[in-house]
Amino acid sequence: MDKIVRKTKSGIYIREDAGFGLITFSPYTGLIYAIHPSQSSLVTKWLDNSNIQLPSDIYKLSLGAGWALRFEDSKFPYPHLLPEEEFWSNIPRPRYPILINWLITGKCPLACLYCYAEDMMRQMDREPKGESAIKRIAESILELNPLAVVLTGGDPLFSPHLAYAIQILDGKTGIIVDTNGYTFSQEHLNLLKKHNIAVRISLDFERPKQNQAVRKFDKEHPILARVKSTGRAALDALCLCLDAGIAVTVQTVATKLNVNDLVSFGDKLYRMGVTSWRIFVVSDSKVRHEEYLRLLGNPKSYSYMWEKIYKAYISNWQQSMAVQFILHSPPNAVILVGPDGKFYNESITRTGKTLIDELNPTKPSSRALDNWLGWESHVKRYLNMID
Ligand code: SF4
Repeated sequence: MDKIVRKTKSGIYIREDAGFGLITFSPYTGLIYAIHPSQSSLVTKWLDNSNIQLPSDIYKLSLGAGWALRFEDSKFPYPHLLPEEEFWSNIPRPRYPILINWLITGKCPLACLYCYAEDMMRQMDREPKGESAIKRIAESILELNPLAVVLTGGDPLFSPHLAYAIQILDGKTGIIVDTNGYTFSQEHLNLLKKHNIAVRISLDFERPKQNQAVRKFDKEHPILARVKSTGRAALDALCLCLDAGIAVTVQTVATKLNVNDLVSFGDKLYRMGVTSWRIFVVSDSKVRHEEYLRLLGNPKSYSYMWEKIYKAYISNWQQSMAVQFILHSPPNAVILVGPDGKFYNESITRTGKTLIDELNPTKPSSRALDNWLGWESHVKRYLNMID
């Protein structure tokens, strides 16, 4: 299969999709943007040579953050369409997935009340067996030409293969590491810095005690290794990344417990220098269904809160902190690759992960992908278009 993802001289990854235009992933911000087909050739040239004149400042203000422009001077438009949404008569379907989530381990020191991945975790026999398994899974993922791969889990910092997975993917696709930050170390920091990797750190509350109440320790995590609260650990990891100049997105699960505090939490993140904040409304999962029902509360409160966050994003944060809000995303919008290398998504007719291709679970055919992936929802999720 053609390899169509390319790292430009700026460090930004691009993929030209016939009919769609250009899709970009920035390791400096962890953000994905689509560029209208009429501008894609010029923007590609600029990403390889920053002296090229662009038709509007908005490209430099958003895509240029971290390499052509200081973060303080950036602006991240919403949704992630360049130029602005009115320019687009329709959003076509891309040929390949925009992003694939690779759960490289099922191990995690935490057991969050609403963990979406719990049904793919903690099954030790499904852990990848050595570097050859990691290489094989990475190659299957790369065959689908994703613009970016999220290394996740479990917590990928618990995987002995994190550095090797990064080494294989680096230069071929954009990379994001998702973590709760509990075991974040200087060694991780060096690894992420060396490969210019974007990080997403999970944090739901400003106050560590409240965070601890929902992001609890897994009962198997040794008592002696619980050296600080989960919220304190996430904050420490966040500060380490910010100080080291690593692109970091804070990921927050919105529940009835924090929905009313989100604007003030966003203010705090903005003042800390966070440039990207991603908020999910708690989602249902097979293993955590009861908790989901308990934590959801009134669904209308999330739409109301999004309006308030949007106002703060425009006026208080001056669009220099990107905000992604996943209010409702159909479960079949994401592709998940398990620790065993099988490709899954979540069925829209029942709760629980489903194999995308039962005949070829570790190498799904494009026909199976077409059947199982909700392409429109996939595009909307990663281009930050709220339904
Ligand atoms: S940190 Fe992530 S993977 Fe671990 S339990 Fe929490 S939600 Fe699940």
